[in-house]
Amino acid sequence: MKTIGLIGGMSWESTITYYQIINETIKEQLGGFHSAKCMLYSVDFHEIEECLTAGNWDRGADILTDAALRLEKGGADFILICTNTLHKVADKIQETISIPILHIAEVTAGELIEKKIDRVALLGTKYTMEQDFYKDRLIKNGISVMIPEEQDRERINRIIFQELCLGILSDASKEEYLRIIDSMMEEGAQGVILGCTEIGLLINQRDTKAPLFDTTMIHGKRAALFAVGK
Ligand code: GLU
Repeated sequence: MKTIGLIGGMSWESTITYYQIINETIKEQLGGFHSAKCMLYSVDFHEIEECLTAGNWDRGADILTDAALRLEKGGADFILICTNTLHKVADKIQETISIPILHIAEVTAGELIEKKIDRVALLGTKYTMEQDFYKDRLIKNGISVMIPEEQDRERINRIIFQELCLGILSDASKEEYLRIIDSMMEEGAQGVILGCTEIGLLINQRDTKAPLFDTTMIHGKRAALFAVGK
C-alpha cells in the first residue's frame, strides 16, 4: 500500500472528512483491520487565509511547498492538497517535489466523465469559481462549467469563510446553497460540483435531487484507491 501525504488544515473541519473517507475506502477495499498508511501535515489556516485575502499566492505556495517537502521526506508516496482553492499553486508545488500530487479537479473530472456529465455547475470559493486554474482542468476534460451569478458567488464565498471554515453550520445557509443549486439545475446544469471541501459538511445528496459531486469525498476516495493500486 502506498503512503498518502495529506496537506490539511484548510480548514481542519474538512480534513477530518478526508481522514474518514480514506480509511473507510481502504477498509472496503482490503477488509479486516486494514487502514490507510498516511501522514498529515496540518497548516495554520490563519496564515493561509491571510495569503488569500492579500492575493499573496506566492507565500501560500511557499507554505504548502514546505509542507509537501516534509511529507516527501517523511516517506509519503504521493500528495493530496486537502482544499480546492490552493490547487491554484499545485503546479508550483509540483515543480519542487519529486512525488506526484493527486489533483482534486482531475479526479473530479474523472468522476464526472464516468457519470457521463459534461455540463456542470461549480460552487466553491470566489477564487475557485472566478479564476481559471480550476475550471480549465475540467474544460480540458471536455466538461463545460457554469458558475452562479455574482451576488450568489458572494453569498457562497461568505458562508465558506465566515461559517463553514469556522465550524458553523446553519439552516439558513443550507437553504441558500440549496436555492442556488436549484437555480443552476434550472439553467441547464446536469450536476453540481461541491468545489470547496467544507460544503459537504452543510449539504449532502439526501438534501437534493441534483446529482452532487463532493470534491472531498471524491478526492479522498480516489486517493485511497490509488494507494492500493486502483
Ligand atoms: N477548503 C476550501 C476549498 O476547498 C476553502 C478554504 C481554502 O481556501 O483553502 O477551497
